[in-house]
This record gives sequence, C-alpha cells and structure tokens, in this order.
Amino acid sequence: MKASFKLFRIAGIDIGIHYTWLFIFAFFSWTLAQAYFPAYYNWSTTAYWVTGVIASLLIFVSVLLHELAHSLVAKSRGIPVKSITLFILGGVSNLEEEPQKPAAEFAMAIVGPGTSLLLAAIFWGLTRLPGDKTMPLAAVISYMAYINLYLGAFNLLPGFPLDGGRVLRSIVWGSTGSLSRATDIAGRVGQFFGWVFIGVGVFLAIQVSLFSGLWIAFIGWFLNSAADSSRKEITLRERLSHFKVRELMNPTIETIRPETTVSEMVMNVFRRQPGRAVPVCRDDKLIGIVTITDVKKIPQEQWNATTVERIMTASPLYSVSPEDNLNTAMQLIVQHDVNQVLIKENDKCAGLLSRADIIRFIQMSHELGIPRTGR
Ligand SMILES: [Zn+2]
Repeated sequence: MKASFKLFRIAGIDIGIHYTWLFIFAFFSWTLAQAYFPAYYNWSTTAYWVTGVIASLLIFVSVLLHELAHSLVAKSRGIPVKSITLFILGGVSNLEEEPQKPAAEFAMAIVGPGTSLLLAAIFWGLTRLPGDKTMPLAAVISYMAYINLYLGAFNLLPGFPLDGGRVLRSIVWGSTGSLSRATDIAGRVGQFFGWVFIGVGVFLAIQVSLFSGLWIAFIGWFLNSAADSSRKEITLRERLSHFKVRELMNPTIETIRPETTVSEMVMNVFRRQPGRAVPVCRDDKLIGIVTITDVKKIPQEQWNATTVERIMTASPLYSVSPEDNLNTAMQLIVQHDVNQVLIKENDKCAGLLSRADIIRFIQMSHELGIPRTGR
C-alpha cells in the first residue's frame, strides 16, 4: 500500500499509517466531539474535543492491537511480517507470504477478532467499577467497549477477505484439501455480505441518514470488490500452477557479453527484439541482467564508452528453473516487483520470462483451450 508513512516499530514490524487514515481520525474526533458525546453528556466544549481526540487515538490503538495479534501469530508460525498499515477502513498486516496450512490460517485469522472481543470485555468490566459515570474517563471507557465489540463482530462475518471469511476458508480448505475451492466459497460469501451492506446502506441513505447509509454502502462495495479480486487471483494462480516455465521458453535466446557497449546493445538487441531486458553471460555463465530502464539512466553521448557490465544488475538476480511452474515465477515477479525473471538451467542462462509473457500465454491457452500439463 503506497502513500503511507512509518510511525514506529514494534517487535520488528513497521507500523505505518496511510494518509486516508488521517481523514478518518479527523472525522472520528469531530463526530465524537460535536455529536456523540454532547448527545449523552454535559461537559464544556474543550472537554468534548479533548475526549473526542483521545477516544480517536484509542480507536487507533484498538485497531493496532487487533492487527498486531494477527502479525505476531503469523511470525510465530514462521511467516515474515513486513509492516502493519492503518488506513480508512481499519488495518492491514503486510505478510510476505500466505499461510501454507489451514491450521496456520485459522489461528492467524481468529486471533484478531479474538483480541478485539477480549478488549471489549476488559473495557466492559471497567465500566462496572464504581465511580461517576458522567465523567469523560467513564465515557471513553464505555465507548471503547462498544468500538472493540464492533471491531470483533464485524471482522467475524464469514466473508473473505474479512477475518471470519479466512476462518471459513481455513475450515473448508482443511476439510476439502483444496485452497482454490475454499477461497471460491469464502469469496462468494464475502461478495454476498458486500451486496447486503450495499443494499442496507442504500436503504439507510434514503430512509434514515444519507451519510451513514453511504458509508455502509461504501464498506459493502469495498468488501465486494476485495472478495471478487481474491477469487480471481486464486483462480489465476491455480491456472498458472498447471504450466511449467519450460513451455514458454524461447529455444533461441539472445544473451549479451559484459564487454559489449551500450550503443551496440541498443542497436543489435533492443532495436530487434520485443523484450525490455536481456541476460548478460560470460562464457555461457549467467552474471547479470540489463534492462531498458538501466540504459535510460545513461546519457546517450556516453553509450559508446559505457560497457554493459557497468550498468547491468549483478545481484539480486531472481531466477526460476524450467521445471518450476508459472505460479512460482509469477509470485517471484510480484514479490520483488520486477518485470521479468531469469530462467536458469544448471547455472546456465536458459532465457527470460516476463510478466507480459506469462499473461499472454495464459490468455492464449485459455482462448485455445490448451490442456494443462500437470505439475
Ligand atoms: Zn483482522
């Protein structure tokens, strides 16, 4: 998620906020100070605002604790967590990979709403303590009980990609053994809840409150499209895993020697072939990759005097073997945000595989109904 900035680090995880969260922070503070607290309590204007801002910060802490619970369980299961980002609709934990086992997904998913419900219970317990219930502190505590209850309950709805949907997916996955089938089912339930929210939101917008209604409809739309794209992604992954890298390999591949000049390379390689990258090899051994982007960094008048070796990327080199499946290659491309990976066979360069090649191949094989080759 772009357009976010880092705040601090907890247990090796970067905690950041997306700029949309600032909007929701201002909105919550304002609604609490101007509408919610004045409706129930009789304080000064300053007290309304201070309490509103503190309550909004505590919402932030509540969402953060929910996400931290997911991330810490993920880490304990061996899944690296890069960061947690809070945005307009809550938080997201950026995991570096998906859980490989249904039990791990179940544990990771359930612990988030579990934490929120536990917090709700603790705050509710605090409201039972004796004391003046009309004071700001008591007001914040009871509001936090309500917010955490809402966070826990909403996330437990069994539609993917909500936590409850992940729980449902892990159960179907565990009992059928098929992740794609499980994602399909949990995604459909997610889409169903999305439509329900849109319907209820539109009804409320017309009948009760325009703003709340539109807000609920917006959440529904977000849920619906997230569920839809999760289902599509898993279908694509499934399809990709049925083909091997070898099937897309071009038997005659163009490589380049490191001492070639940039101008020679542009003339003889990039002007003649469609790709945007070329492997660099010395005595048949792969030593790097050079792309059009690398060339663009050098002013044209220096092309004659610059060798490929000086502008190529020597590491990290991302490569796959011809026997890997296309899903492995695509995951590598997506994970490292590169446009292509090298194909390596016994340390020798066997070619390049780009994002565009994979997409073109999948479209073509789908259109022509080319049968899968198996893993
Ligand atoms: Zn969650």
